[in-house]
Amino acid sequence: MFLEEIYITHTEQCIAERDKIRLKAELTSDVTEVMPYLNTVIKNAIFNRYAPLLSFTREFRLMVLYPQSLTMAKAVDRADARQILEWLKDLINDTWENRSSITPNFEKKIKPSVPQFYSWLPRTNCRQCGEASCLAFAALLLTGRQSIENCRPLFTPEYVKEREALTGVLNAIL
Ligand code: SF4
Repeated sequence: MFLEEIYITHTEQCIAERDKIRLKAELTSDVTEVMPYLNTVIKNAIFNRYAPLLSFTREFRLMVLYPQSLTMAKAVDRADARQILEWLKDLINDTWENRSSITPNFEKKIKPSVPQFYSWLPRTNCRQCGEASCLAFAALLLTGRQSIENCRPLFTPEYVKEREALTGVLNAIL
């Protein structure tokens, strides 16, 4: 088996949807080589080969996959998150096993959406960026009318993964 396990290392309450959780997880193998194949297999994926990272959604859950870690937002609870991580582990293993019949895609496939950008922001609506809300900031960032540097909370250690994800995608699309 290529990937033995994806295990949760940290969970906390989602800021925007307080009945949901967000989490961090670690992978027992480096999946860098699988990412271009996953980019083909996962239809709504956004791949940044230089980061590298792969962001995608599973229904309403938002995930960013790194070589040996992962973040997930808007999971229902820990059990729901575990179920999704099990699905992802199987998908990674199946994709790797069948890679000879899959054409790897090293390019981004779709333009990221406002909800995806929003998911990487602190979502506190603190207005330090000068916008009325994080959602408004996300919409402006996506169209190049705002700068990531203007979200100061994103540059605190708490949001290092989200900042890397957002920076990676911004570098790929703008
Ligand atoms: S500064 Fe960042 S966290 Fe605060 S409202 Fe703007 S985008 Fe949201």
